[in-house]
Amino acid sequence: MKLSKLRLARLKVPLVTPFKTALRSVDHVDDIVVEIAMDNGMVGFGSAPATAVITGDTHASMVSAIERFIWPAIAGKNIRDLNEICRLIDKSMIHNSSAKAAVEIAIYDLWSQSLGVPLYQALGGGIAKLKTDITISVNSPDEMVADAIKAVDLGYDTLKLKVGKDLQLDIDRIDAVAKAVGPDIRLRLDANQGWSAKQCIQAISAMNRAGIEFELIEQPVAAEDISGLKHCTEQLHTPVMADETAFSFAQSLQLMQNQGCDIINIKLMKAGGISKALNIADAAAVYRLPCMMGCMLESSIGVAAAAHLAASRYQVIEKIDLDAPTLCQFNPVVGSVAFNDATITLNQSPGLGIESIQSLAYL
Ligand code: MG
Repeated sequence: MKLSKLRLARLKVPLVTPFKTALRSVDHVDDIVVEIAMDNGMVGFGSAPATAVITGDTHASMVSAIERFIWPAIAGKNIRDLNEICRLIDKSMIHNSSAKAAVEIAIYDLWSQSLGVPLYQALGGGIAKLKTDITISVNSPDEMVADAIKAVDLGYDTLKLKVGKDLQLDIDRIDAVAKAVGPDIRLRLDANQGWSAKQCIQAISAMNRAGIEFELIEQPVAAEDISGLKHCTEQLHTPVMADETAFSFAQSLQLMQNQGCDIINIKLMKAGGISKALNIADAAAVYRLPCMMGCMLESSIGVAAAAHLAASRYQVIEKIDLDAPTLCQFNPVVGSVAFNDATITLNQSPGLGIESIQSLAYL
């Protein structure tokens, strides 16, 4: 069961509507897909998007990293040596977390296939159904209200509002959505580094006084502003979640040790793959810090892996934000995890359960 062949491909899937945050606006998912075959004929898949403004990864950098550094480090290894393969991926070069994540996803797919069980069971077992929130892009208050009502009609009970572009307009946006959907719908805010700590405390406090409560506020301040994030955490009763500040396992651990946030948003593309994401979840369990499982705007291959990981660490990963597949016009993956609006149902077939992938363009 040796790793024998690598193929890379590009996968583009158009979105239903453009995805807009404080950092960027995109209208399609555009991933690099990793396909690794073993000498026994088994094939594993992984994927990663090029989120240059978040992780620094581009398509060209991922292809180069995988072909020149990561694959040569693991080619020919036996899948039974999973930990050693993950160590070699990590040590093959520094940074390049998305490229490493794409390869690790394919490796974990193969490893769990070789054991004959779905990935979440190979990771220890857990719950086979998850419920995700849905992202409401930052737009005019009227558009955000329309999107929010549409989501509630589809059965979502938790909305993640993207804000962080203009403080007063943000307050108007949030106020409009909160009034439109009512108090039974949980609201998560993601400012994507768009506010200062002072602005965050003022805005959230003002909205709290107006009777609007939030389940959490995500990454209000710049990724580097560790003290600002901690200040918000101390001043607000609304839980503060670290996303861009909690990039690597080491950064996440530091936040836990310094009580710099209330929640950690784990993403495979930040952590550098499944092994590091598991480290974050297991450390958070020690510190009794809840986590969210998040994703980039990416294809259902990588999100399926994130869902399996979240299912296996359900005790600590209490919140699920894996909505990227439902924002796409279609799911190019046949088999695997089913994404039906708010409900995510894990495959019971071995590994990630991928039978085939449509619209793959091999490089
Ligand atoms: Mg975020």
